[in-house]
Amino acid sequence: MINFETLFKISYGLYIVSSGSKEYGNGYISNTVFQVTSEPPQFATCCNKNNHTADIIQSSGLFSVSVLQSDAASGTIGTFGYKSGKEINKLEGMEIKYGETGVPIVLNDAIAFLECKVVETYDVGTHLMFIGKLVNADVLDDEKDPLTYLHYRKVKKGVAPKNAPTYIDITKLEKKSDVKEKNKHQCPACGYVYDEEKEDVGFEELPDDWVCPVCGLEKEDFIKI
Ligand code: FE
Repeated sequence: MINFETLFKISYGLYIVSSGSKEYGNGYISNTVFQVTSEPPQFATCCNKNNHTADIIQSSGLFSVSVLQSDAASGTIGTFGYKSGKEINKLEGMEIKYGETGVPIVLNDAIAFLECKVVETYDVGTHLMFIGKLVNADVLDDEKDPLTYLHYRKVKKGVAPKNAPTYIDITKLEKKSDVKEKNKHQCPACGYVYDEEKEDVGFEELPDDWVCPVCGLEKEDFIKI
């Protein structure tokens, strides 16, 4: 048997993985970035096949990793983690630097970055795992700590979106909640909770263009808790 709570005991960071060129690029939030070899330094990242960035990494053979700081703005995480590059240009209005290969690197809330050339791609079912050789890397802020997935979950009250390799269907978790909690809807980007008991309007009655008052995420992305 699998106790899915166990999976929360695995440690991760939280990153923006970007790809593309000076003409066009996209990025997404990833918690699966890890070093796989030291000689040469190579990194792996997993990307859902439905993610727009997966197509761009495949065509450009490049990806960058921005290491987010622990107090990263919810808006940055909301844009890169919960919006699709097929619908909006996520890099527009962001602070972007172009690496040695021309790949875009997102600087918003970043304390370090990596720039990698793809050397292998593995099909792992729902996701593609890209192995990239490190070609450029630098620290941008030596004072701040990197954001960990644990901090994101516990302090920022964030949850993994459906496209994440570590997404957990909460209905699989042991029910610890009582009936009252069923009337709450949470923003998966910033953790804001819309509590129907405290509001005059039920969540379903809110207009379709209602957005998270904290980070601006759309209503349809909210998760019932
Ligand atoms: Fe929010």
